[in-house]
Amino acid sequence: MIHIDPHTHSSCSDGTETPTELMEAARAAGLDVIGLTDHDTIVGWDEAAAAVESTGISLLRGSEISCSRDGITVHLLGYLFDWENVPLAEVFERTRESRVGRARRIVENLSADYPITWEMVQSFGPVDGGPIGRPHIADALVSIGAFPDRSAAFVKVLHPSGPYYVHHWAPDPVDAVGLVRAAGGIPVLAHPRARMRQRLLPEAVIDEMAQAGLFGIERDHRDQTEADRVEVDRIAARLALKETGSSDYHGSGKPNRLGENLTSEDVLRSIEEQGHLEVLRP
Ligand code: AMP
Ligand code: MN
Ligand code: MN
Ligand code: MN
Repeated sequence: MIHIDPHTHSSCSDGTETPTELMEAARAAGLDVIGLTDHDTIVGWDEAAAAVESTGISLLRGSEISCSRDGITVHLLGYLFDWENVPLAEVFERTRESRVGRARRIVENLSADYPITWEMVQSFGPVDGGPIGRPHIADALVSIGAFPDRSAAFVKVLHPSGPYYVHHWAPDPVDAVGLVRAAGGIPVLAHPRARMRQRLLPEAVIDEMAQAGLFGIERDHRDQTEADRVEVDRIAARLALKETGSSDYHGSGKPNRLGENLTSEDVLRSIEEQGHLEVLRP
């Protein structure tokens, strides 16, 4: 059996390990293929690619694209797309820019009650221009002892229904599916039934995404219960979508462990057959 974990994050977004460290962790975890899917960026691809040979881990290049519909955040995994595609690159850029102003406003809101500064948050974030987000604000809150870990900070103050929250710009999920396909990529809807995060995405929107060319839907993810997964099975069968599973690993930023959920070799093969790029193998 080939162990494929197609959804992980590095310090190029809100993971805590560099792409090289992530590839080494994948080897230590006994994986064969890892998908690097940092939020709204591809900046970690080259470093991860350089570690394919030394680690023996195959690399599925991707990104987790932030999308928004009626105030609901939607995460779309895009795989093997042409990174030189201008419309897609422009969307990434616009989202990352909007994330900066939004994070500053959340920090401003929080600073009324917690002694954190924008400079502190930036020191936990990715290099300049990278996708700064709530996990980095959580890191600053943890560093001053306000919360024991990121998860606690999310539950108490960073939740979208909380008083400090601010939205950032993001593309509509149906447009994003079209953009990924137009760039030769494979779109997969991430954790569609992760209930604790926010209001659920209406199933009708998944129908729209399927019509726009959605390839798959994430089933096995720790934020989805058995009942959620049965619901995903029903949606996937109805809309003829492939199903994936992943760890959504964030290094020490989350309890998620590499390889805790996996994707089948068949599904990876279809992604590669349809994708513009290839999986990089040692
Ligand atoms: P943002 O993109 O800035 O809105 O932050 C979203 C990110 O925060 C996600 O990609 C997760 O990594 C993380 N996140 C979301 N909800 C939680 C939660 N309840 N506990 C811990 N981390 C979370
Ligand atoms: Mn994340
Ligand atoms: Mn996500
Ligand atoms: Mn993720």
